[in-house]
Amino acid sequence: MSRPAIAHIRLDAFRHNYRIAKQFHGGKALAVIKANAYGHGAVQCAKAIESEADGFAVAAIEEALQLREAGITAPILLLEGFFEAAELPDIVANNLWLVIHHLWQIEILLAAKLTKPLQIWLKMDSGMHRVGLSPDEYNRAYLRLNNHPNVAKIVLMSHFANADNLNSAHTQQQIEVFKQTVSVLNINNTEISLANSAAVLGWPQTRNFQGLAQQSLPKIVTQWSRPGIMLYGANPLYTNAALANQKELLKPVMQLTSRIISMRKITKGEAIGYGSIFTAECDTMVGVVACGYADGYPRSAVTGTPMAVDGKMTRLIGRVSMDMLFVDLTDIPIATIGSQVELWGDQVPANEIASSAGTIAYELFCNVKRVQFTYTDI
Ligand SMILES: *Cc1c(COP(=O)(O)O)cnc(C)c1O
Repeated sequence: MSRPAIAHIRLDAFRHNYRIAKQFHGGKALAVIKANAYGHGAVQCAKAIESEADGFAVAAIEEALQLREAGITAPILLLEGFFEAAELPDIVANNLWLVIHHLWQIEILLAAKLTKPLQIWLKMDSGMHRVGLSPDEYNRAYLRLNNHPNVAKIVLMSHFANADNLNSAHTQQQIEVFKQTVSVLNINNTEISLANSAAVLGWPQTRNFQGLAQQSLPKIVTQWSRPGIMLYGANPLYTNAALANQKELLKPVMQLTSRIISMRKITKGEAIGYGSIFTAECDTMVGVVACGYADGYPRSAVTGTPMAVDGKMTRLIGRVSMDMLFVDLTDIPIATIGSQVELWGDQVPANEIASSAGTIAYELFCNVKRVQFTYTDI
């Protein structure tokens, strides 16, 4: 038998979550499958929704070409655009859409000799201050690009810094900056894109034809959402009490499991593992699970982090090591060598593991490696 650490990927859950994202937002949805679909397998995830997805978004051309080579013909947006002029012929040949986020890209794009014009997504920095043209630069850039022979269409785009914090006024401020800037352009048939997962779920004013379309931008014809993390079943607003009813909305896509490979009883006062950071307060049955930080389970997870053994909830104890970790089996008498352990998935929300390790579910998913991946769909 091979090492039992497995990431089970449920493609039907991924499809369900995509439908929820689309339904919530009401417009078109680009499924964000950058970074190998947040560690889930980009080609498999893309294929699972290929027939219904409005398009996909990845970080860069390498990720897009992998999808094209696998036969995906749907639109694909490059979220960072291009990094050098040499990519442009492949971007044209593979029919890719690209974000333009800086003036240096505009100079290259306008100087290039292309065989076909490109569809671009012009990104505004409305307040996140990561990438994007400042509101001052934005409209001038739009006017230079619009009707240029290298440019087929321009989608107006921005990204939120704090949409996962429903108490922050920053998201509404960013919406206002975006609206004020683009309303000056006074263009017809505008396509815009603002909402990531947190905005889709928590900010109705960024949804299709609510707020934006009815207020100062009556000429919007299409609004695109860009959901990522929610497609994988992790709600970025999960700590928000007001949205507690969203708990069951999304289905976990990845179930990370392994098995117990060793058991021993330790007596009160004995310690386990590296650093001896866990000392038994009473006689304790300790299980060793074949999964560690080299598989992507976070080393920073603390004693008490939830885990399920044969369907029963229990906890991580001691320090996570590279290939193994410890589980408390004291209250699970049926546990035995070979018992299945869920590290995260249906019973153990990835968001909870993330918070007990001081990180976010995004990072947990992206870090999964070395384990076997299995895919199911129904
Ligand atoms: C990654 C990314 C997204 C998806 O964000 P989630 O929080 O995972 O929904 C959307 N837009 C841009 C520009 C991104 O880089």
